[in-house]
Amino acid sequence: MARTLISGGTVVSATGRTTGDVLIDGETVAAIFAPGQAESLGVTADRVIDATGKYVVPGGIDVHTHMELPFGGTNASDTFETGTIAAAWGGVTTIVDFAVQKTGENVHESLAAWHEKAAGNCAIDYGFHQIIGGVDEDSLKAMTYLVDNEGVTSFKLFMAYPGVFYADDGQILRAMQNASETGAMIMMHAENGIAIDVLVAQALARGETDPYFHSLTRPAELEGEATHRAIQLAKVAGNVPLYIVHMSASEALEEVAAAQHAGMNVFAETCPQYLYLSLEDQLMQPGFEGAKWVCSTPLRTKHAHHHRDLWKGLRMNELAVVSTDHCPFCMKDQKELGLGNFSAIPNGIGGVEHRMELLYQGVVNGEITLERWVETCSTTPARMFGLDRKGAIAPGMDADILVWDPTKRTKIGVNDKHHMNMDHSAYEGFEIDGKVDTVLSRGTVVVENDTFTGSVGHGRYVKRGLSTYLH
Ligand SMILES: [Zn+2]
Repeated sequence: MARTLISGGTVVSATGRTTGDVLIDGETVAAIFAPGQAESLGVTADRVIDATGKYVVPGGIDVHTHMELPFGGTNASDTFETGTIAAAWGGVTTIVDFAVQKTGENVHESLAAWHEKAAGNCAIDYGFHQIIGGVDEDSLKAMTYLVDNEGVTSFKLFMAYPGVFYADDGQILRAMQNASETGAMIMMHAENGIAIDVLVAQALARGETDPYFHSLTRPAELEGEATHRAIQLAKVAGNVPLYIVHMSASEALEEVAAAQHAGMNVFAETCPQYLYLSLEDQLMQPGFEGAKWVCSTPLRTKHAHHHRDLWKGLRMNELAVVSTDHCPFCMKDQKELGLGNFSAIPNGIGGVEHRMELLYQGVVNGEITLERWVETCSTTPARMFGLDRKGAIAPGMDADILVWDPTKRTKIGVNDKHHMNMDHSAYEGFEIDGKVDTVLSRGTVVVENDTFTGSVGHGRYVKRGLSTYLH
């Protein structure tokens, strides 16, 4: 087995940083040596990566992606191949994607269909959550089976999208009761979809069809309300672990913080788009431009305190994780489906490539610490979703490693750094202080010298255990 030594870097974990050398044997981390120790012990390696002046951090883990997702009459534009290569370019070494059961479909068949899309096509490791779009006796039984046999230990429910994914309160309660028996995590898209559909119909009837009405018809109150309701249902179901996805609103954050103070197992993630982008600066761009930023939950106004509060939530651990909700659609032929009707614009933003970069900018800006960057983008996602061999650089762990160069810069944009299969970038023109230098997936270098050196099919399916955040 080939041995690699990453020498002289600053090894950063969720709890601190130290200068040292990381020895990789085959696919796993073998040891971390203090400076000079490897030399005095006569440690040899087939390959030495000089990380002097750089940060050596666990590879990014993005627990919220939608490769090839069918949505609104089209498919998310990244395949598992293009999406995982773009992820690698961004220092991400594991994704957890969502297998989708829609109302009326069979859970086992949907999971099998997602395995078929991903198997042999991924450049980095991957796992699956299961979306339960139809809670009934069959799907409840399937939930138990997936936890026990398939390495799928988290289930996403929707309080939005009536007729597609929507679960009513009784169905949510039943799924939560099931999860409280198996120890699974319930993930929730918390927006009041019934009320939103009324607001959407009223807006369209008034002739309000531009992309930004997408945000105005999904007010923050309806994210806060749904978050509150999900928390109460989780409490009634026996304090089942509940994870609120893609949080964008102060109102929702307050509900999560209050539940945590009351001792509940409630967690939440946010995404870079909610930390950096807004209704006014992006979604309200003239004409149809704003369609690029139509996603749900929506971008919020910069004139309230959402952005400030979400950064605060990240510092306070009210927000435990940053994911991307990567769900890319091109403007041409895809977003354009919603010309003249914002409600027909496929919902989603592509970002799997840029999360590590954008959140590192939060370190430079003084919003979070270097350690918190590692914790929210890698260590906690691994623990939250039972990726037992990922999320930390320690002996025995998978050698998924990002070497980050804080002295270089990254320019994001379709003619700059951009490897996602999209005809635009949601972050066009952003410049980041810092740069992905080298990326290793289970000991194999997949990105170096501004070149993708990995291979499609290297990525393996990871069976996940129960969340270790609680056990
Ligand atoms: Zn999503």
